[in-house]
Parts: sequence; structure tokens; C-alpha cells
Amino acid sequence: MIDLRSVSFRYRQDWVLQDISFGIERGEFIGVIGPNGSGKSTLLKILCRLLSPQKGEVLLDLTSLREMNQRDIARRMAVVPQEAYSLFPFRVIEMVLMGRSPYLGHLMFEGARDLEIAKKAMDWTETFSISERFVDELSGGERKRVFIARALAQEPEVILLDEPTANLDIHHQVDFLDLILNLNREKGLTILMASHDLNIASEYCDRLILLRGGRIYKIGPPREVITRENIEEVYGCRVWVDENPVSGMPRISLLRKGG
Ligand code: ADP
Repeated sequence: MIDLRSVSFRYRQDWVLQDISFGIERGEFIGVIGPNGSGKSTLLKILCRLLSPQKGEVLLDLTSLREMNQRDIARRMAVVPQEAYSLFPFRVIEMVLMGRSPYLGHLMFEGARDLEIAKKAMDWTETFSISERFVDELSGGERKRVFIARALAQEPEVILLDEPTANLDIHHQVDFLDLILNLNREKGLTILMASHDLNIASEYCDRLILLRGGRIYKIGPPREVITRENIEEVYGCRVWVDENPVSGMPRISLLRKGG
């Protein structure tokens, strides 16, 4: 469904991504992991064409993103951003309806069908009861669900998530990721998630892409990627890797100096 072919990107002089090639099948749940500055956010921005690579190509169902306009892309891919910016005081319903903008003409207002789709998106994410509240007055967990509702209102085939569990407590992390997993398994949505949390990536993703300095260091199922050797090599710190006793997926424990 998505194909990256020898993608390289630089903001200024230095290459930030180099010779990245991989494919994503429809319905996969992919995690992008790697240390700070390894290029995870940049890769996500290239996938939704917020940035265009200087070398190589990204294909969506064999069509190059260069040949698609932003509206076409937004009808197929939705982005759930990191919350690094301040929010305007929009109501939840207004925020969710923004997801319909790729389908509206210039100066067109949403119609009954858009409202219907927004309502369904709020049902999925259990945000209907807070639809009249202001987004900037919600808890972190509620706000994440609103962003997912907005993404769903776009009726996308792919959702890109940038560090979705940062700032959430473990209860809300699990709630949020279970929701994403449900969308993946039940609605067949393709998910690509950049995450700092290696245990979460290991637990939820079908495949992981481990980046190091803008290159793919390893790509494969969690068992092949989350190994002590790979993680120590790429992150430069000592770890212990065993199995989560319940799921059997690789589990990382940090080791303090001298521990
Ligand atoms: P990650 O998400 O893995 O932390 P990023 O994709 O944010 O990595 O950053 C990769 C590299 O690109 C870093 O060296 C970072 O400093 C640089 N970078 C990111 N955004 C910009 C920008 N807007 N302008 C210049 N350099 C940037």
C-alpha cells in the first residue's frame, strides 16, 4: 500500500534521512522507533507529504505522492500530531468536523452526512458526551481521543501517530492503544506510529522499524528488532531484554550504572 523507495531528506546541509526503503501492507500496524534525532518525526512528515524528500519517492498504491494534492492525500491519510503546540479554544465537535475539510469545497459548510460521520467518529472514540466542551479544557487522555475522532472523520485508510502516548498515564496509554488496535483490527486501518516507548511498540506493533542516525538499522517483527544487541548498539545504554510473561513479546528493562 505504501512504498518508500530510496528516500533521503535534509532540512539544511546534513542528511536527516538516508536511503530509506520499505513497504507497508494494507492493515499493518507499524512502529517507528529510534533515539531522539534519529528521524522518526521527519519520516512521518514525509509520509503525509508535509515534507518532500530531495531523493527517492513515496508511493501510495503505486501513485507517487508528488502527483497527488494535499486534499487527495488527506482523504486517505490522517495524522495525529504530537501535542507540541497550543490549542485554540475550539469545541470538540468543531475539532472533529475539521476532519471533514478534505471533502468540502471552498467556503462550503458541513452537511448532514458530515455530521453523521463526525458522530460515528465520536462514538468510536467515546467523545460524544464531551462534544460541546472546549478542547483546551480537556484532560490529556480525552484530548488524544478527540484527535483520533478528528482523524477518523477524515475517513482515512492510514493513520500516522507521532508519539501518541507521551504525557499519558499507564491507564490512559493502554486505553488509547487498545482503541488504536481496535481500529486496526476491526476497521482494517493501517497504522504507523512513532514511539519512544519500546515496550509499547513491542506489545502492539506487527513490525518495527528501528532508525539510527536517519538510516534503517533493522526492520522486522518485534522479536527480531527488540534484542539486547540491537537496542544497546543503537541507544548506547545497557538494557536487559526478556519476554513479557503474559504476551510473550520482548520486554526491555533498563539497567542503571553498576546494576
Ligand atoms: P526524532 O523524531 O527521531 O527525534 P526528528 O525527525 O525530529 O527525529 O529529527 C531528525 C533530525 O532532523 C535531528 O537532527 C533534528 O535536529 C533535525 N530537524 C528536525 N526538524 C528540523 C527542522 N525543522 N529544521 C532543521 N532541522 C530539523
